[in-house]
This record gives sequence, structure tokens and C-alpha cells, in this order.
Amino acid sequence: MSSGSSPITLSALAAAVQPSATLAAAALARQLKAQGVVVYDFSLGEPDYPTPRHICEAANRAMAEGHTHYTPANGIVELRSAVARWYQKTYNIAYTPDQVIISSGAKHSLHTALTAICGPGDEVIIPTPYWVSYSDLVQMTGAKAVLVPTTLESGFKMTPEQLRAAITPRSKVLMLNSPSNPTGVVYSRRELEALAEVVLEKNLAVISDEIYEKLTFGDCTPTCFATLRPGLAERTLTVSGASKSYAMTGWRMGWTLGPGHIIKAMGNVQSQQTGNPCSISQYATIAALEGDQECVEAMRREFEVRRNLVCGRLAAMPGIRCPLPGGAFYAFFDISAHFGRRLGGKEITNSAEFCQTALGQVHVNLVPGSAFGAEGYARLSYATSREILQLGLDRLEQFLRG
Ligand code: PMP
Ligand code: GLU
Repeated sequence: MSSGSSPITLSALAAAVQPSATLAAAALARQLKAQGVVVYDFSLGEPDYPTPRHICEAANRAMAEGHTHYTPANGIVELRSAVARWYQKTYNIAYTPDQVIISSGAKHSLHTALTAICGPGDEVIIPTPYWVSYSDLVQMTGAKAVLVPTTLESGFKMTPEQLRAAITPRSKVLMLNSPSNPTGVVYSRRELEALAEVVLEKNLAVISDEIYEKLTFGDCTPTCFATLRPGLAERTLTVSGASKSYAMTGWRMGWTLGPGHIIKAMGNVQSQQTGNPCSISQYATIAALEGDQECVEAMRREFEVRRNLVCGRLAAMPGIRCPLPGGAFYAFFDISAHFGRRLGGKEITNSAEFCQTALGQVHVNLVPGSAFGAEGYARLSYATSREILQLGLDRLEQFLRG
């Protein structure tokens, strides 16, 4: 059937939504690999480790015990309790199981959270560079994304003054992400406290995406925004999940903690939209949260070694400026000095052209800064082996010679 002859037209929403740039970049690499090309694929942000064995065993047990049916739409109480216990233990903040909802991945948590609190007429403040899906997820609710630019010079951090200047009578939500995708930047506790003062004064809600909280390096530490001041937990939806910490991207486990009435409304949305998140994944995630955490620490240590390797090499390349990120597993570096040059036989004028040409010429797959609302940069995910990183960086170096 040719889709050109279909009488069905797209909805305004579907016509406006862009495919996720990170997933699109990964699909492109997959196509090339299928043709037999060796691709140095640094596009996708997912741990290269297998899911730890004890987590897989818990999933097998769940299946053997018959946990293969519908669960409550907001997730099983055993997992919601385990998440609440984890926050009590880690950040000393108390939530009841009714203040926790499990979703099908943190992307789904973000979408459900935004759907529950935003709509047409609302503004959502997002510091840039932001993770690819934020602006589209906001747009899907009918709300407007208000972008606040930050740069390498400002440490990719939004200041309280910038936040204040972005607020209008329509501002409803501030989206925060620390450690950040794509920059890897980790806000200090003091910096978040300064933003919290503005949030409280201006009566904003906050969606704090803390999915990289277990992956911080050196003296950077994660902060749970909701804990910073009295009154913040009542206006903050904390989002996190199992994908990054436990190498569980395919299991689709995300969670949100926040005021009971919002969490309940999110449950209503989910009950009509997806039903429950995967029953087997939920049991596996209890094992992840309550089992031995050494697997997380081993991955974190290796990511730190790779960060030092990748950022050291990138910073030494001509015309590249690469800061040292404090968390996550991305290098986000300035390539703008190469704009106007011919690389791989093509004149490069923006980050999309840089990345397309690097993929075409030296088979190095990066994601353009423009996908994160930040032209002039590129993102490299170092969630891959040191050996592949070294080989890919050799090729990138060769590419930059022109
Ligand atoms: N937030 C951020 C900042 C991310 O990088 C990701 C990456 N996938 C997600 C949320 C969503 O994670 P998932 O849906 O795999 O749980
Ligand atoms: N968060 C990952 C990334 O930024 C996964 C891709 C996605 O979900 O869009 O690469």
C-alpha cells in the first residue's frame, strides 16, 4: 500500500512532534551497521553493560511465580514502597507509597507528570541545553516551552537571575535536570538552593529529573531538589528511574514522587493511557533497589575513567572546547570553531552538518547540539568500551584535520 494515497491526515499534534533526535541518530547507525560498515556509535545514552544478574533472576522468579498479569495502573505497592524507602535512606525524605507512581520509563514519567499539571496557556521554563524530549513533551500538552540559554562559559548552569527574568504570569513549571543530559553538569547544592528561593517566591511547580543521580564523579554529588527547603516537596515532582543506574533501559521503569493529589491524577492518566507498567519489570526493579549496590558503583567508576579519557582527548583536539562534566555519561563540546571550514570535503556551517559529515566520512556517530537547543556543540555518549572510544576519537581527530 502506498501511504501517499491514504485519505487519512495527521493530527496537528502528530504533525508537530519531531522524532527523538537521539533515537533517530541511533537508528541511522544501526542502518549503516546492517550494511557491514563499522560505526563508532556514540549517539545513544544507554549503559553498555548487561543488566546485573540478580535483577534478571528476580524477573525470572516473577514470571515463575505468575506475576504476568495486570497490576494497578500506578504500579505494585511493593515497588512503590521500595522507591519510598530508597528516598528515605538516600536523601532522608519521607514519602508514602501513595506519593509514588511507577511509569513505563522516566520518559513516560515526564510525559505523565507534564500532562497532569500543564496545558494550553501555561509556560514551562527549561534551561538549555536540555534533553531532546523536553520541548516536545511540553508541546504535546499544549503548554509553551520557554527556553533559558546557558553556555559553556556560564558552566551550562542557569542562574537565579536568568530564572527570574524568564518568569511571566503564565509560568507554571520549571524543569530541572541535574546531573544533566546532554552537558553532564551537576548543580551544587548551593546553586540549587538559590534557584529554590526563586521557585518558592514565585510559586512555581518543579519537575526535577534526577535520573543520573547515581552517576556523579569527583567531588560532585547529587541533590534531591525536593529536600532543599521546607515547602519544596509540596511543589516538586521528582522523576527518576532504573534505566541509567542499573543498566535497565529496555525494562522501561521510571518513577515520580510528589504531592498525593498530583500522583493520583497521574495514575488516572496512566489508567486510561497505558494501563500498568510491565509487571515483570516492576518485580525486577525491587531487586535492583533493594539488592547489592556494588554493581552501580562498579559502573560509575568505569564511567569516570572514560570521562577522563574522552574529555582529555577531546580538549586536546584543535578547535574543540570540552569541559569536564561532573556526572552522567556524555561529553558536550564546542565545535563552532570548525564552522566555515571544509571537513570531509564539505563546508560545515552547523552542528547537524558536522555530525552528518563525521558519520558519512569517518563513521563516528555524534548527536548535534541543535537537538538539545544548543547550536555550536556536539554530544558524545561514552557509554561504550574504552577501546571503541579510543578508535572513534582517533577517527574524529583525523576528520578535524579536514
Ligand atoms: N531524562 C533524561 C535526562 C534522560 O537522559 C533520559 C534518557 N533516556 C530519560 C529521562 C528517560 O529515560 P527512560 O525513559 O529510559 O527511563
Ligand atoms: N536518554 C538517552 C539519550 O539521550 C536515550 C535516548 C532517548 O530516549 O531519546 O540518548
